[in-house]
Amino acid sequence: MSSRIIESVAFNLIRTAVIYLPEDVKHVLEKAYAEETSNIGKTQLKAILDNIKLAEKQQAPMCQDTGTITFYVKAGSKAKILENVEAALVNATRKATREIPLRPNAVNPFTEKNSDDNIGRFTPNIHWEIVQGDSLELTVVTKGGGSENASALGMLNPSEGIKGLKRFVGDAVIRAGAQPCPPTILGVAVGGGADVAMKLAKRALVRPVNQANPDPALASLEREILEAVNMTGIGPMGLGGKTTVLGVHVDYAYRHPASFPAAVAFSCWADRRASARVSAEGEVEYLTHRERR
Ligand code: SF4
Repeated sequence: MSSRIIESVAFNLIRTAVIYLPEDVKHVLEKAYAEETSNIGKTQLKAILDNIKLAEKQQAPMCQDTGTITFYVKAGSKAKILENVEAALVNATRKATREIPLRPNAVNPFTEKNSDDNIGRFTPNIHWEIVQGDSLELTVVTKGGGSENASALGMLNPSEGIKGLKRFVGDAVIRAGAQPCPPTILGVAVGGGADVAMKLAKRALVRPVNQANPDPALASLEREILEAVNMTGIGPMGLGGKTTVLGVHVDYAYRHPASFPAAVAFSCWADRRASARVSAEGEVEYLTHRERR
């Protein structure tokens, strides 16, 4: 493993993520197209599927908003050069912005100056998780502003419990309407403090859409919420139909007895993520887009 390899893998992941949707997302979009009963909704899903094919053919980003970049790093505790990983990810982001290219999406909120290279304070955002072993697993997520702006955080009344959570998620989807470019994927998290709930909700979006929650009770809650939010009729791109949400991913943390934080993170249909593993010897395995390598 070397900084050069990590930088090159991170660059490949960003490029892959913005051009090619993961197969699981394409699959649920195709299924939604086959099952959508609204003509307008079907037309919108067809336009999305055509857009995906065109991006692949032209090797160009699938949306003009290439998002802000987040890296999830699972670092083996025995992996070498961990101290160089952050610099490698920053370099990869800068190179990707220049060469793919990506839209410059990093703005200083006080000076309003755009850094023009997608680099800035906490940008790209890097989440670390220390795991056993000596390899490094990298996941990149590029998330657009439209879906980010629909994010919802609420400090619910603990007495309402899961019933309150379901109402909160439904309200968030209705309030978001067309803003996050539906059909969306929802990351839902409950518990922890406010920061933990939001972090878990966003991280839940990394799970493949067709992968069931390993906890049967949460899997059942996910199905229930999915069914409920798809009854809103918001539909593809908010123009009506039965496909408003493609998947719901729930996570949780234990909570303070007096607090019930709930968070909803939205991913638009352009659910852009890509993952790879780098072994201690520097061998690279692409996990989400094998067929592209
Ligand atoms: S929400 Fe997603 S699909 Fe819509 S403009 Fe933003 S990045 Fe593009």
